[in-house]
Amino acid sequence: MDRLYQGDFCLGIDQPLCKGCGLCVSSCPAHILYLNSKNKIAVKEISECIFCGICEARCPDFAIWVFKDRHQNEQRYDAHLRVVGEAEG
Ligand code: SF4
Ligand code: SF4
Repeated sequence: MDRLYQGDFCLGIDQPLCKGCGLCVSSCPAHILYLNSKNKIAVKEISECIFCGICEARCPDFAIWVFKDRHQNEQRYDAHLRVVGEAEG
């Protein structure tokens, strides 16, 4: 599972659960989701997420969700503004 933080909010993705249907990708109003080379969900830029929850609502496999959480080490915040998911899944 990957957690991507932005302030007090977090986007969680669980690639093993993702079936690559693309519903969340086409529904995201911020256009930050994509399917990687293994057809698994990945995030381009978490700083542009508006935490609307549409991806969570559309996913039939509970592979992406939003929740309130702040990273415990603020100094590592920048490390989470990255493309995730390319090396996993
Ligand atoms: S919470 Fe909204 S903006 Fe963020 S990834 Fe999901 S659909 Fe896109
Ligand atoms: S809606 Fe769910 S299963 Fe479909 S691509 Fe998005 S995360 Fe994967």
